[in-house]
Parts: sequence; structure tokens; C-alpha cells
Amino acid sequence: MSAPVLTVDGLSVDYQVHIGGIFKRQHLTVHALQDVNFELYRGETLGIAGESGSGKSTLARTVLALQPARSGHVVWRGDDLLAMDREVLRAKRKEMQMIFQDPLGSLNPRLSAGEIIAEPLRTHYPRMARLQIHERVIGMMKMVGLSPEHVNRYPHEFSGGQCQRLGIARALVLNPRLLVCDEPVSALDVSIQAQILHLLKDLQKKLQLSMIFIAHDLSLLRYVSNRIMVLYLGQIMEIGDRASLYQAPRHPYTRALIQSVPIPDPERERRDRERGHRGAIPSPFMPPSGCLFHPRCPFAIERCKIERPSLRPVREGHAACHRVEELHLERDIAAPAASGDSDTAEA
Ligand code: ATP
Ligand code: SF4
Ligand code: MG
Repeated sequence: MSAPVLTVDGLSVDYQVHIGGIFKRQHLTVHALQDVNFELYRGETLGIAGESGSGKSTLARTVLALQPARSGHVVWRGDDLLAMDREVLRAKRKEMQMIFQDPLGSLNPRLSAGEIIAEPLRTHYPRMARLQIHERVIGMMKMVGLSPEHVNRYPHEFSGGQCQRLGIARALVLNPRLLVCDEPVSALDVSIQAQILHLLKDLQKKLQLSMIFIAHDLSLLRYVSNRIMVLYLGQIMEIGDRASLYQAPRHPYTRALIQSVPIPDPERERRDRERGHRGAIPSPFMPPSGCLFHPRCPFAIERCKIERPSLRPVREGHAACHRVEELHLERDIAAPAASGDSDTAEA
């Protein structure tokens, strides 16, 4: 296999939070990411899953050096973005773009579609001729399935799906090599979601983009990803090949996420939920001792309360669980019927 385009090494990110009034002010630290390590290859899509607050967006922002880290490295094509001079970083940013969750909110309402797509070109190539910019904008609109006749329309005149196409055109206009998609379809109607997913997958393949794709929904990630990483309270619980992670999860939390996908059988859904996980996600201000998942894990033993498990190799990936060798989660998993396997991501 060729060298990775992106190496994330020992990445930890904290937020300082100040709560309370003037007399009883508390300064708390949220460890949003803790010692996160992974690699991404050219043309590969890494899916990132996890419940709300697990650190997915923090990871997306830190990978693009939009968020400072407490420690660690984000090495993009040989250079550490977190240790880079501002000017050099600005030039590098052309190679990395992001697609956001809220299509309308992420677009400047005062700019027309044409201006929105052209803006990054004007910023990075101030000497580019107007005609060349116009041709490129029209080309991008066609590429993402927008009618060039709508070049002078404003964001509020487009539907949610069309706004997301606009966001994709803007993200791709500089020919990036890395695309980070933070829940790009979660704000869209279900019928539109599939169209945008198809579009992103097609473009990723055509342009040989490396992609980080964030979603709550593991079945959606299964469709777009080559590998999947599962985060919980800022730590990697499991990372591995899409098919084996989905069919035979090695970490109880991965299994719980798969089992939380709604299925049209109330009895099976109830059974799965009982076997999956219990209770709510703990406060990020007071993470549990030992394994972060132990208060909710149906397989927890005494050791899990004391000792934090490290990521260890398992078939086709890694999982952070003390009992990974003895648990055979694939035996009793009741995963939803495999849908769209003929259309799944290609390695
Ligand atoms: P969601 O699925 O809700 O988008 P997420 O997985 O993207 O969640 P993050 O937004 O990365 O999670 O948040 C990770 C943790 O960091 C959470 O506990 C969150 O409350 C906290 N956090 C995120 N941004 C900030 C901030 N600017 N200041 C303080 N805490 C923050
Ligand atoms: Fe569950 Fe223990 Fe594994 Fe954590 S280490 S996932 S608590 S069995
Ligand atoms: Mg988020």
C-alpha cells in the first residue's frame, strides 16, 4: 500500500469551560479528543461515527488546523499542519476543504451562487481572469447537478439539497485532495439525502479524493466509507474495515451503535437495545474511570472500572476493549438486513 496522505498521531484537544457566576466561578476542562491516531490514504473514505459529544466535529476542525490541539500531530502529505507557519498553512488549505451540516447556514446569504463558488478562487488566485472564473463556476455547477441558469440566484432561492450541492461546488472549486464532510446530509430530507450521498461518492471516486465523512448513522457510513472509526467521549473505541466492523463489531460500543439503528421489528429492536448499552452518555466534565464505556457496557467486569484499555489489533482493525479476545459479538448481533451491498464503497 502507498504512504498515507494524512497521519494523525497522538491528537488530544481540550476545551476550557467557565461556568457559574462571579462568586462561584468554576473552570472546567473538557477532553474533547484523547490520543487519537489514524491514517488516511489517497482515494479512501474514513467514516467517523459516535454519539453527540464524542468529538467528531472537533476532530474535523483540528485535522484542518482550524482548532488548536493540546498535543499531537496532523501530518498532511509530509507536513505537520499544527506546527506550520500561518502563511504556509493558508496555501496548504487549498488542498483541504470542508462540507458542513447546515447547507443554508454555511452559505453567505448576500452572495449569489456564482459569487459563492467563485469566492475561494478570488481569494487564492487574485489574478485569475473573470472569464476563466466564470467558466470554472459554470463547470462546477454542472458537476454538482445545478443548472448554470441559476448562477445569479441567492441561497434562499434554493432548496436544502441544492444548497448542499452549492456547498459541494464551493468546496471542490480549488481542486482539493482532502474533503472533510461533517454530517453533510443530516439536515436534509431522507429522499434528498440519498441523492447527495450518491453525488459525494461519485465525485470522490472521479476526483480520487481522500475523504473524512462524519455521521451519527452507521448504516449511512457503511455506504460511503472504506474504513470506519468509532469515537466515544473523545477516544477511539474501534477502527476497522467497513464490512467487518459492521458485520462483526469487536467493541461493545460499536455493536450498541449498530443496534441503535431503527429496524421495523419492535420486539427485536427492544431486545437489541437491552443487549446494546444502558443509560445516557456520561458528562464530559466527569468522564468515567477505566474504560470510558464501562457504566453503560453490558459486558463490564471489575477490571473495566479501573484500567483504561488501549487500542489493540483485531481482525481487520483495532479495538479498545479488555475483553475483545473473549467476546464474540458477531454471534448474537442482530444487525439490520444488509441493504445496498451491491453499491457499497470500493477499497
Ligand atoms: P455532535 O454529534 O453533537 O455534533 P460531536 O461528536 O461533533 O457532537 P464535538 O462538537 O466535537 O462533538 O464536541 C466534543 C466535546 O467538546 C463535547 O463535550 C462538547 O460539549 C465539547 N465542545 C465542543 N466545542 C466546544 C467549545 N467551543 N467549547 C467548549 N466545549 C466544547
Ligand atoms: Fe465493556 Fe470492559 Fe470492553 Fe469497556 S473494556 S467495552 S467496559 S468489556
Ligand atoms: Mg458535531
